[in-house]
Parts: sequence; structure tokens; C-alpha cells
Amino acid sequence: MRFSEIIGNEALKESLVKMVQGNRLGHAILLTEENGGGAFAFALALAQYVNCRDRQGDDSCGVCSSCHKYQKLIHPDLHFVFPVSSSNALSESEKKGPISDYFLPAFRELALSNPYFTEQQLYDAIGIENKSGLISVQEARRIFEKLSLRAAEGAWKTMIIFLPEKMNLDAANKLLKLLEEPPQGTLFLLVSHNPERLLPTIRSRCQPIRLLPLTREQRRLTGGTVPDDAEFREIARSMLEAGLAKRIIDLFPQWEMLADLGREKQREWCLYMENYVRKIYLVANGLHDLADLSPQEEATIRDFAAKVKPAFYEKAFAALEGTLAAIGSNVNPKLTFCDLGNRLLLAL
Ligand SMILES: [Zn+2]
Repeated sequence: MRFSEIIGNEALKESLVKMVQGNRLGHAILLTEENGGGAFAFALALAQYVNCRDRQGDDSCGVCSSCHKYQKLIHPDLHFVFPVSSSNALSESEKKGPISDYFLPAFRELALSNPYFTEQQLYDAIGIENKSGLISVQEARRIFEKLSLRAAEGAWKTMIIFLPEKMNLDAANKLLKLLEEPPQGTLFLLVSHNPERLLPTIRSRCQPIRLLPLTREQRRLTGGTVPDDAEFREIARSMLEAGLAKRIIDLFPQWEMLADLGREKQREWCLYMENYVRKIYLVANGLHDLADLSPQEEATIRDFAAKVKPAFYEKAFAALEGTLAAIGSNVNPKLTFCDLGNRLLLAL
């Protein structure tokens, strides 16, 4: 994959290229994206670029032998790790400790046809659609083995880990050791949706890069679904309206709904809400075009933008970050969202 093929995050392309050219690229990069937001495509393009034998300024050449193999995802120094689970397609012995390598053909096919794949699309492609994947300690051992080999061809051995937050604690501790004493010439590219669920010691070893969410138009171009966020939007709207009217009692149904969603969805809603607040901020500051409003949210967002106090935004973002952290821990979800509702109400 070349940088020029990637949709969105133009400024990031430039800064990654400058990091490579200025020799400022760390040995571990943590790319954070919204589900389906293109971080995996960036990981591929960066790996291909650092290994290209004939870089064309700000992009890889796309035709040298290294690029050729990277583009087919068959370069011997390019490794993939992603969450997996047992599947009927595996042999009895493989079922005992499933690892990414067992699913590699299906993974390659998916990544080649759609490098913007979502977590669910991954599970569908590798045939574990009804289960949630995990990165196990067997997988972490395999990473060790692979990286202890010399680079076969490239200047860099590249290990792309999709959703490192799906590692269990044993696996995470093994990865941490690798990040603390990285094998020479190894580049770790972690693609995460929930970086706050990683061990803080792993996070601190990585160079963090957060991708901007794709606009609705960019999402359409990637072939991704443009979500109809009706339910999320309704909760966001009701919560802010109750907050503006200072009616705590009207917040109860929202707490209940959010508390019942399950962690994954709660997290998604918080990210949705952050984006919702960001849109209000942009409209309130005359940047309507950047807000990328859907027809369904246009009138409401404009209305909030006219009513919300300037001090609201910072407090709202802090409250939502606090909520995201609490979702990752074992705090009672009702208390978490009750607290969020109160903080938003006080900030409005
Ligand atoms: Zn090349």
C-alpha cells in the first residue's frame, strides 16, 4: 500500500514521511483509530515505505521487489497478529491454541480487498463471527520466535498488531518485554481502538498517533458503511437537552439505556458523544463546513451551538475521557453514566 492510496488523514502522511526521513521514527508506534478508520492502511503504507528500495520522496515506489511483496502482503519480514478464536475450520490440535498464522490466507484476502476493515469484518472473514477474538500467550510466544530470526530481506522486520488491547495479561507482559528490549531492526505497528485498555507500560513504550475520524464522504469512499446513528444521536440529544434545562430527572432514562448497552457499545457511544460535542463546538465557532453534519443532526446541532456556554466543551471532553477510563475498569455502569450526566449538566 502506498500513502497516496490512503483515504483521509493527509497531514499524517506528511508527518510520518518526515519522521522516517529525519530518522525520528520510534521502534514502536501506536496508531489509534475509530473502527474502520484506516490505521491499518497507514501501518501497511509505513512498513512498505521504510522498506522500499527506491523511495520516491514522500512515498514508496510501488515497483521494487520489496514493495511488490508488501503489496501482496507476502513479504517474509512482514508479520501480522490479530485477535482470533477457535473455529470449526481448524484442526483439533490447532483448536487448543489458535493463533493468527492459522488464519493468514483469509486475513490477507480481507486486508487486500479492504484495508479499512472493522473488527467485526475481521471476525467474519476469518470465520469466528459469533465470538470475540483474543490475542493469547501462545501468540505472544510466536511473536518472540518470529522476531528472533534475522530479517530475511528487508531493512526492517515489521510486526503489525491489530487490536493489541485484545491481549490477555500474559500475552501483554510478553509483548512488553519485547518493547522494552526490541530485537534489532524491528518496527512494531500497533493498531488500536481502545488504547486506554493497554497496559500503561506498553503505551508508554510507543509513539502515540491518533487518526482523525473519517468524514462521511471519506467513509463512503473507503466502502465502509456510513452508520445510521439514530439511537446514539437520540441519547446524546436528550442528555444535552435535559442538561440545558437543568432537569436531572430527565437524565434517568439516558443513564439506564447507556448502562444496559454493554461495554463495547458504551465506549462507542462515548466516542460518538465526543464527536457530537466537537461538532457543536465547530458550528458555534463558525466552522460549519468542518463539522460534516448529517441532515438528521443539522437543526439540533445548530440549536445547541447557539445555547451552549464557551466553557462547556473542555469540561465535556474531560467528563467523557473520565467515562471512557471508567468503562475500562470495573465501576458500576449506572454510577459511571449518572456521574457523566451530572457533570454535563453542571457544565452546560
Ligand atoms: Zn519500492
